[in-house]
Amino acid sequence: MAAGYWAVVPAAGSGLRMGGPTPKQYLPLAGRSVLAWTLDVLLAHPRIAGVMLAVAKDDARWTECVPAGAQDRVRHVVGGVERGDSVDAGLEQLARVRPTEEWVLVHDAARPCIHPQDLTRLIEAVEDDEVGGLLAAPCTDTIKQADDASRVGATLDRRTLWRALTPQMFRLGELRAAYAAARAADRVPTDEAAAIEATGAKPRLVAGRIDNVKVTQAEDLALAEAILRTRGLL
Ligand code: C5P
Repeated sequence: MAAGYWAVVPAAGSGLRMGGPTPKQYLPLAGRSVLAWTLDVLLAHPRIAGVMLAVAKDDARWTECVPAGAQDRVRHVVGGVERGDSVDAGLEQLARVRPTEEWVLVHDAARPCIHPQDLTRLIEAVEDDEVGGLLAAPCTDTIKQADDASRVGATLDRRTLWRALTPQMFRLGELRAAYAAARAADRVPTDEAAAIEATGAKPRLVAGRIDNVKVTQAEDLALAEAILRTRGLL
């Protein structure tokens, strides 16, 4: 049987950009929370052994989001101030029970529309890779770089641009070392690939579905619901 890997899921955001009191991972999406949808996909996948959730201090709501029968495959840890701090906490906890050379996937709780086929594609593309990699989508829009006055400073060559998605998959020990180096340099990377890139390595880009949306703003919930409906999940 093919090996199953653990996923670290940062779910400790306060969701301030949404403007409401409910963190985005707990917003209602078609009758359930965003996090419940995300955990469902991860824990139903044959190549995912378990999930290490990073949650906010005093958060007990995550327990209601764990699919029935999967309780013993989910652990939790208290997250940090930034997403990178939460991932780092999850990796540290995982390293107590898993070997450093094992692959780990990191997936945002706020991406409930991750397709199982994308998980398979990432794992199969990366598990024999030297460095690791991430799901990403080629940019189809023309991208403008702003100057300090919110005017266009430059137009970038979109043929070379990709949007980084999650999951991102790296070796547990290497990812921990990369986060430790970032911490030592007082940087908090916004994704795992950025932490690894800073060590000089080049993560593999694996083309993923563009409907792997991150719930960031209120209108994203309607979009996520439409995506789930299109898949026949509603
Ligand atoms: O806000 P952002 O888009 O970076 O959130 C991406 C993911 O990181 C979300 O699932 C969110 O819950 C998580 N996060 C976290 N700890 C933080 C900030 C965000 O686990 N301090």
